[in-house]
Amino acid sequence: MSNFELPDRVNPYQLADKLTLLEGVISAKRLKRLDETTAGIDESAQVSLRFDRDESGRRLIFGHVTAIVNLQCQRCLQVYGSKLDGDFTLTLVYNDEMAKALPAHLDALLLLPDALLDVADIVEEELLLSLPMHAMHPDSECRIETQFGTDESKGSPEKAPNPFDVLKVLK
Ligand SMILES: [Zn+2]
Repeated sequence: MSNFELPDRVNPYQLADKLTLLEGVISAKRLKRLDETTAGIDESAQVSLRFDRDESGRRLIFGHVTAIVNLQCQRCLQVYGSKLDGDFTLTLVYNDEMAKALPAHLDALLLLPDALLDVADIVEEELLLSLPMHAMHPDSECRIETQFGTDESKGSPEKAPNPFDVLKVLK
């Protein structure tokens, strides 16, 4: 992927009419909300944005974003690195009627045709959405697991049921 720092603002309607692919990075300092929500951004976001039109003449943005952030494990409280990965499609609309007319599977982005789009904003939104609900190490890497194993193994069954298994079933 390229290390090109993506521009602050673009005109998405023009880019869609020209069928443009924007690839590059959004550095951590442009993702303040993500930085504050997590224990810090480890690696800049890698971003791919494709501006296109569909057969109905709608302008769309197809996005793929990844970033590595530090999260605090809610089980052992250690900080670990986690890769965020998100895909999204946004359909440009410039009034409520256009938004209401969209098929249910399309997400609307309300923006006037001559208005500029804040690139970091849509990237950050997607990264925030791809944060795990409960930050947690994979089982094998979590320290709490090993502590249970050594401290409470006396005469107890091999492994206590993991309380989080219940959550998995409920999902
Ligand atoms: Zn952990």
